[in-house]
Amino acid sequence: MTSITLKTPHSGEYEQPTGLFINNEFVKGVDGKTFEVINPTDESVICSIHEATEKDVDLAVSAARKAFEGPWRKETPENRGRLLVKLADLFEKHSDTLAAVESLDNGKAISMAKGDVAASAGCLRYYGGWADKIEGKVVDTTPDTFNYIKKEPIGVCGQIIPWNFPLLMWSWKIGPAVAAGNTVVLKTAEQTPLSALVAAKLIKEAGFPPGVINIISGFGKIAGAAIASHMDVDKVAFTGSTVVGRQIMKAAAGSNLKKVTLELGGKSPNIVFEDADIDNAISWVNFGIYFNHGQCCCAGSRVYVQESIYDKFIEQFKARAEKNAVGDPFHEQTFQGPQVSKLQFDRIMGYIEDGKKAGAKIETGGKRIGDKGYFIEPTIFSNVTEDMKIVQEEIFGPVCTISKFKTKEEAVKIGNNTTYGLAAAVHTSNLNTAIEVSNALRAGTVWVNTYNTLHWQLPFGGFKESGIGRELGEAALENYTQTKTVSIRLGDALFG
Ligand code: ADP
Repeated sequence: MTSITLKTPHSGEYEQPTGLFINNEFVKGVDGKTFEVINPTDESVICSIHEATEKDVDLAVSAARKAFEGPWRKETPENRGRLLVKLADLFEKHSDTLAAVESLDNGKAISMAKGDVAASAGCLRYYGGWADKIEGKVVDTTPDTFNYIKKEPIGVCGQIIPWNFPLLMWSWKIGPAVAAGNTVVLKTAEQTPLSALVAAKLIKEAGFPPGVINIISGFGKIAGAAIASHMDVDKVAFTGSTVVGRQIMKAAAGSNLKKVTLELGGKSPNIVFEDADIDNAISWVNFGIYFNHGQCCCAGSRVYVQESIYDKFIEQFKARAEKNAVGDPFHEQTFQGPQVSKLQFDRIMGYIEDGKKAGAKIETGGKRIGDKGYFIEPTIFSNVTEDMKIVQEEIFGPVCTISKFKTKEEAVKIGNNTTYGLAAAVHTSNLNTAIEVSNALRAGTVWVNTYNTLHWQLPFGGFKESGIGRELGEAALENYTQTKTVSIRLGDALFG
């Protein structure tokens, strides 16, 4: 059996594929293994699905290789684009089911899941538009030479995605890879495999040839590691923790030196100046840390507020955080659902204990909500010092620290006081401050008077230990193409 009928409170019954999607078919794993998918809202088992091991990775890679050397190579760029646009249309057609499955499996609020599905469709359509606009150029060197430079696909791309935005990461990875003419083996996170499999059905319906996009479910140390070290995978794109990112690079270096792009962790500063519109700043600081339950690599987890407004800010921010609706992800009003898993829940609670022990003060939150499901109160720590673990390490939960600064220079210094560099934000009504501070912050994205406003047209990725390469925008195509120079010796020049 490779599918099962499930039910969600939002969209009723639906058909949930449980197999590995290889060559446009759902199949069982070679070793016959399965694993359970847990509902983070009530800790029940949703279903069991088939697990990929090394042998299945081999099968998926050979399907992708065959498609790359065969039908996909011969496909016109126009048709590659057409297929991606069709896939985007199907995402929209099935948006209710996709969003409901995302909420069921990940625990994210249904309103947020709907946003993720809309953004996934937007991203796929955007890259559909790029497929026939990837161009090379002609470069004149000497009169008797004709040189042209081409952008070619890299080949078979292994893509390993995390559990925090399962569908969104699916589209961020597949969109640019396929637009540029590559084929794909994508592994979902073991915590959240379900929506990707529902979306896999749409790949076939859109009309992609077999083997172009393969979706497998499995564990990082087994299927993920097999992708990273595979001798016939030409590139690996990974989103996840910095610890695993290092392992991926090592595996690539130790195998066939496949190209590597990494989108890793963050500990992003959210800096509020005294001249900011305070209500606006509080809304965005709140959204910056608590959106997606704090499970965002770009979460604004370090809040820095200018001294003169600090007391007022903290009082209002506390009141705002306490109003966030935490609960059942299927209630339309819910803003924050459960954390994704027991492991993540325990990790976050461990950081909260650590913060308390280190002498930080809990302004609000700090506790579990209820006794079933992985719900945690939105938490603010004050009275922190820069050397504390809760200020330096990525918590990946609804927990932020807040402290004060005096000057612009100090704000930049503490903002940059991290090994990460994924994102940052500045809140101010002074244009010069906005630009000067944005330019001085060492981060791949800087938001001014806003937060988390990602868009598929804008590149996203990390400075420092937050990653290598960029996703989204035209920049992502750089990671999925390689440059070929062709230099042709001509006959005698016709000039003179
Ligand atoms: P988290 O700690 O938040 O779960 P991870 O970085 O461990 O994040 O996981 C992100 C993705 O990387 C998941 O798909 C996971 O299965 C995969 N993964 C984990 N460990 C490895 C590994 N050693 N090699 C390849 N992929 C891995």
